[in-house]
Amino acid sequence: MAEVKAAGPILSSTVRRMKEYHPPLGDRSGLRLDFNENTFACSPRVLETLGHISRADLTKYPEREPVERLVAKHLGLEPAQVLLTNGVDEAIHVLCQTYLDAGSELLLPVPTYSMYEVYASGTETRVLRVQAGNDFAFPVQQVLDSITPATRLIAIANPNSPTGQAVRREDLLAVIEAAPHAAVLLDEAYFHFFGETAMDLVGRVPNVIVARTFSKAYGLAGLRLGVLAAAEEQMQWMRRAISPYSVNALALACLPSAIEDSAYLDWYVSEVLASRTLFESALTRLDVPYWPSRANFVLANIGSKHQEFAAAMRRRNVLVRDRSSDPGCDGCVRITVGTREHTELGIAALEESLREIGWMKGEA
Ligand SMILES: *Cc1c(COP(=O)(O)O)cnc(C)c1O
Repeated sequence: MAEVKAAGPILSSTVRRMKEYHPPLGDRSGLRLDFNENTFACSPRVLETLGHISRADLTKYPEREPVERLVAKHLGLEPAQVLLTNGVDEAIHVLCQTYLDAGSELLLPVPTYSMYEVYASGTETRVLRVQAGNDFAFPVQQVLDSITPATRLIAIANPNSPTGQAVRREDLLAVIEAAPHAAVLLDEAYFHFFGETAMDLVGRVPNVIVARTFSKAYGLAGLRLGVLAAAEEQMQWMRRAISPYSVNALALACLPSAIEDSAYLDWYVSEVLASRTLFESALTRLDVPYWPSRANFVLANIGSKHQEFAAAMRRRNVLVRDRSSDPGCDGCVRITVGTREHTELGIAALEESLREIGWMKGEA
């Protein structure tokens, strides 16, 4: 095999099989409407907390437990049901390590968040994709029909990215009930912009696992903070799989301040909700097809000129995310909505860019 002859140590078959993930980071100066981050800032209290951290504080290994107790209380759960993670991305990695191995199946309604497949590709599981229709509604019947005795994990982002579509609670319940032998991950990264949750099922239904992040509404993507919530019996296995110090001391120190400043969170969420209405009205006015969103972004169908559109936006210093290569998303671009001020800038750039590329209705 060519790999064996290559200079240097021989790689595992697993890592050679792993999917590469290349987020278009690099130069992200300008208005960042490409990663669904908070476009403005985190709570000022978080920065205050950072200012009070001493040199001696940093000499200690981080302790998750006290902060987990606080998060559990905030979510109405027991501390044993809560695990803090280095972002939801680490949570996904931990879930893949906990539930997936040779002979197992990951059931994945697509299009969806990329990292489920990235981490699953680092295991020997088989990925079973279930394609949503043109409206990107949750394909509940196909998901139910695809559950097998080998299903070990079903990953559902609710609301979903990049589509912004939500799953009806009765559909979630149907899937959870039809796969009692599989972990069902309900990824609520965009919960704050949607308002509905399945957190009440945690502990009551053994196969439900809910994830939340501090990267989106809270504006803390740089700190890397995520939460997993599940029944204690399941959580003890996830605690084995996770690295003990993966959530660092600065993140742990800041988290209580972020949670306590609920007024700030409410303000930002209200900005996003107003912005979403503004942005969707602009798309309607400009005759651009889009999928009405329950999150802090909108998926628009730009059609064959999607790349030219993203480039035209970039020339106006506005970054957007081309999702054209996602399954069923040909010609689609995902645009984050943030504060009203930022969204108005985004809309102005959108109008100019569509004009520049000569976009016309029917092109999509
Ligand atoms: C952004 C996003 C995440 C990533 O969250 P981190 O906590 O920053 O790792 C997870 N799931 C979905 C669906 C997302 O869109």
